[in-house]
Amino acid sequence: MLQSFIRYEETAMPNKTSPFLCLPGLALLLVGCTHSGQLAAAPSITLTTTATPTARHPQHRRQLYLRYPLPQQPRPRRHQRSNLLPAPHQPLNAPTPTPTPILPASLFEIPWEDRSIFKAGLLDSQQSILDKLPGASIYHINLLIGDNLNLNPRSRSHFLHQYGSCPLDDIYFRLFPNLAGGQSRVSDLAVNGQSAEPVYELRDSALRVPLAAPLPPGESMVIAMDFAVQVPAGEGGNYGAFAFSKDVLALAHVYPMIAVYDDEGWNVEIAPTVGDVVYADAGFYVVRVTAPAGQTLVASGVEIERNESAMQQTVTFAAGPVRDFYLVTSSSYEVVSRVVGQVTVNSYAPANLLDGAEVALDQAAQALEHFNRRFGPYPFTEFDLVGTTNFALGIEYPGIVAILLDLYDQAGQVRGQATPGLLEGVVAHEVAHQWFYSLVGNDQVDEPWLDEALAQYATILYYNDVYDEQAGAGFRSSLERRWARVGQADVPIGLPVRDYSVDEYSGIIYGRGPLFITQLAETMGQTAFDAFLQDYATTYRWRIATGDDFKRLAQQHCRCDLTPLFEEWVYPQSSTH
Ligand SMILES: [Zn+2]
Repeated sequence: MLQSFIRYEETAMPNKTSPFLCLPGLALLLVGCTHSGQLAAAPSITLTTTATPTARHPQHRRQLYLRYPLPQQPRPRRHQRSNLLPAPHQPLNAPTPTPTPILPASLFEIPWEDRSIFKAGLLDSQQSILDKLPGASIYHINLLIGDNLNLNPRSRSHFLHQYGSCPLDDIYFRLFPNLAGGQSRVSDLAVNGQSAEPVYELRDSALRVPLAAPLPPGESMVIAMDFAVQVPAGEGGNYGAFAFSKDVLALAHVYPMIAVYDDEGWNVEIAPTVGDVVYADAGFYVVRVTAPAGQTLVASGVEIERNESAMQQTVTFAAGPVRDFYLVTSSSYEVVSRVVGQVTVNSYAPANLLDGAEVALDQAAQALEHFNRRFGPYPFTEFDLVGTTNFALGIEYPGIVAILLDLYDQAGQVRGQATPGLLEGVVAHEVAHQWFYSLVGNDQVDEPWLDEALAQYATILYYNDVYDEQAGAGFRSSLERRWARVGQADVPIGLPVRDYSVDEYSGIIYGRGPLFITQLAETMGQTAFDAFLQDYATTYRWRIATGDDFKRLAQQHCRCDLTPLFEEWVYPQSSTH
């Protein structure tokens, strides 16, 4: 996300679930009983909605099935808690756990274990990842979009418990629509075919699914649910990422998303109203969308099947491994496309803004080329830019980024800046997130600097590479001005989102953060730093990295102690990092 300066009234309210007790009747705290550093399982979800033609923002019903894999690695330390993928020395290709035979079938008659449908979305050189990530969950979502753009979803997810050595008593889902001006309610919840009662927590942003029988490590289960979703009219909360506005239906985080399980238990919290909300493991998504024929559908992943009639279209998307699935529809979109290497880049906007969308397409193509060289290949065969009415300047999702439509008016201004120059920085920043957030995951709520500072720093590199060092210095100056808006305060960049004021979040994370990265490069030496950053993007590819991981790898490359620098910029002085 490229954060803007809009104020929000709400404040973040962190909340974690308590780790469960491992043995019945024993007050045993969970040492050794939490998740192991293995890749988290992503759920498979299928969404189906029944449209009610009279409702403006109708509700949806969906069914959801989940399945999780097993953990076998030692428990990570607190700051490694988000490292759900194997650590660098750990194999990515651990044997796939044997599925439990009683699991309900997938919604699309695609076996849960069949990952071949995801090949089309991955470069040839990247398809080997399909044989790895043994614990990744699979979401199957069937989404019906009615004539009035009402939603009617059904989902099934497949969940395998891979989180440590203790049985799970509950499964948590995130219900982001309930924090973004909309609503998501669940009904007909079932676990392995047996009815269960949904429990809403944290202002209904967390859904707890109590399990009648604990789920042992290494075993799978299926959770089914129907759910109803209401999309907010207008721009909604969380930067308008989930909204229907100006003929654009933007469906960010619309489905129940399985929370990350870490050494503190299920990682659920009321997401802050600034910054990105999603902290998720990589998973696999099959999403079938049925919509009016006139709608253009833009989504994560690639289209693998299409059926059309005069009035209706049904399009199936396959995306994975990805940390989220994003869908936007509009009857106004047109598209311009380009091929960069093996990647098809599409840019969508209404016809009157298509010139600006083509400018963004050029910029994204350049960014992809240079970032490919610097950080390793963008893994997917498709990359989309889509103009939306969000009130951030841009928002990143796996394989797709949303760009504020106003930026496509090349004669206009946005927040006092001429759009052509502003657009280029936004596009470079959002493309950089395809490496820092999408490929290399991080906890965007607790360690926002890790992806945002790197996306900003990568934008300096973009200007250096595409133009010259003077252009790069110009962008760097904008970062210094951003930091100056909060008086160049030496507030650590390594705090959770909730610990910053809105102004600090902008000035520190997006200004001081990338300036720290430039200082780190200067300290390490540019050559060593460049090698480190490429190694970081490669080593933690498909996994989740922490600030500690980042520091440790940097120190390996410079063969130096970076603790003083991190204490000056990243962590509070009292920290033990
Ligand atoms: Zn960003």
